[in-house]
Amino acid sequence: MVGQMTERLVLARTLGFVAADLEQRGYHGHGVVRAAARVLLDVPDDRDPDGCAGCRAVLVQPHTGRRRRWCSEACRSRARRR
Ligand SMILES: [Zn+2]
Repeated sequence: MVGQMTERLVLARTLGFVAADLEQRGYHGHGVVRAAARVLLDVPDDRDPDGCAGCRAVLVQPHTGRRRRWCSEACRSRARRR
């Protein structure tokens, strides 16, 4: 179904890119933008399938090299301990 859920996902992904850009430029606002993206996806049926393998947070995949699977070291180690 195409509707609000898709719109939220697109918006959350866009915010993810904005956050990455801000972080790269050294702005401290990236944390809050990333948090906003997470709130947008805080619906079980509306998680990003390409997102973090732990919490489904939006990930910004690099153009080259390995795909990221985790949003943070915390999610990675949490999964390892299981
Ligand atoms: Zn995560």
